[in-house]
Amino acid sequence: MEISNRGSPPDGCGKAANRLSINWKKRPENMDDFEKTDIEPIVRDLYDALDGKVDEETIRKEVDSYINVFHIPEEFARSGILKKLGNTRPAVGGQSVTKKIAELEGTEMNVTIVAKMVFVEKKKINAKGVEKTIISGIAGDDTGTTPFTIWSDTGDYEKGSVYTFRNAYTKKWRDQVQINIGNRGKVEPNTEVSFNNVSRAAGTGAQEMDIGSITDQTKNCTVTGKVSDLSSRTINVKGEEKTVWGGMMADRTGRIQFTAWKDFGLKEGDVVRAKNAYIRAWKGIPQLNLGDNTEVERSDKDIGTVADGVSAKTVEEVVRIGGGLDISITGTLVDLRAGSGLIKRCPQCNRSVLSDECTVHGRIEPVMDLRLKATVDDGTGAISAVIGRAETEKITGITLGRAEEIAKKKGDMGAVADMMAGALILKKVTVKGNIMTDDFGPQMIVHSADISKVDVQAEAEKLYDEVEGSM
Ligand SMILES: [Zn+2]
Repeated sequence: MEISNRGSPPDGCGKAANRLSINWKKRPENMDDFEKTDIEPIVRDLYDALDGKVDEETIRKEVDSYINVFHIPEEFARSGILKKLGNTRPAVGGQSVTKKIAELEGTEMNVTIVAKMVFVEKKKINAKGVEKTIISGIAGDDTGTTPFTIWSDTGDYEKGSVYTFRNAYTKKWRDQVQINIGNRGKVEPNTEVSFNNVSRAAGTGAQEMDIGSITDQTKNCTVTGKVSDLSSRTINVKGEEKTVWGGMMADRTGRIQFTAWKDFGLKEGDVVRAKNAYIRAWKGIPQLNLGDNTEVERSDKDIGTVADGVSAKTVEEVVRIGGGLDISITGTLVDLRAGSGLIKRCPQCNRSVLSDECTVHGRIEPVMDLRLKATVDDGTGAISAVIGRAETEKITGITLGRAEEIAKKKGDMGAVADMMAGALILKKVTVKGNIMTDDFGPQMIVHSADISKVDVQAEAEKLYDEVEGSM
């Protein structure tokens, strides 16, 4: 059987007609496993943002450790590294993020906020002996309200109207986040958005949610769940060490990874209510953040049996929610893509390499490994599933040692992938793991894979007929 190079999901089959029509980009074959994000674009961006003042190798080391070692979401990694290496505010005009008021942390360097001016006034201040007019007030959206100051503009703004605060920065004063518009910022009327119910206090907009219904589109929320897998790590913010906590929070509907950006005194096994937490999605997986605006209290609510198992989902559901942890998908293994079978890895960074050269570490003595990059189709859609060595050995019955012998005998590493394809394609598999989504579509990092104990031969023939019939 041949290894095809199709991107996922496969299309053109008759049964694909009713699927969600999403045009994923074709996943590049040399793109490494999800666990190792391709950091080069981030390195290049940061190199530019730092005006070339820091060499690429230093930046790459930082990015690698933030992203691949500490699994810090890319957005935080970018700003964290800029602060650490740049020691200056990054140039405005770089990547601006759009946030709701409740999401503001008081450390944003370049943020866009759409909000109503609940209150606005002109003030005269004395700046270094010079009298100056500034505009200050209260801005509000459906998640909260916060003070703002426009430092270098004396235009007229209308109370009750909605404006876009562009290229703003935020500061924190007495535990309250403040929006600032400096020289490079702009405040423009926004007639497209209206807020009928501006939250009076930050956070009152954060509605109570079941963990299982949080998606990557959720902004902020209040959840009650049980804390587990608690750990802390130290990060570097503006040259200062800061401790953050991470773990899992679960209720009977699901589990979510969380980060606590300050010490809430969380303990393993506690049931807590986190009011006004906010959600950041990393590659489609929603993550719960407990920040300065979050209130955490112990809860004696009976939350029932906590979901700690794996939830079975269809690909369509996964695409809709964006991704998630501990998901199980059962479908047909329709394709093994290039990069499957016997592969070489750099011993230092674990990247897969095609020759004895790593793009980062130069000439290396590669280590051999087994991996499958499978396309699993459950009839509602297809996901890419990356299966590591242990599970590959389990479902193919071919060990790494045996694979090396086969490759040696045939004089071709590809022979191993061909054999594995022959053994697996069109078989029914259940894969369990974490699913992330990027521009290339949903991809699962598989923790366990099983070939269903059904009559594989009969099933395969049936599926083969179906596939043939629909071509
Ligand atoms: Zn390397």
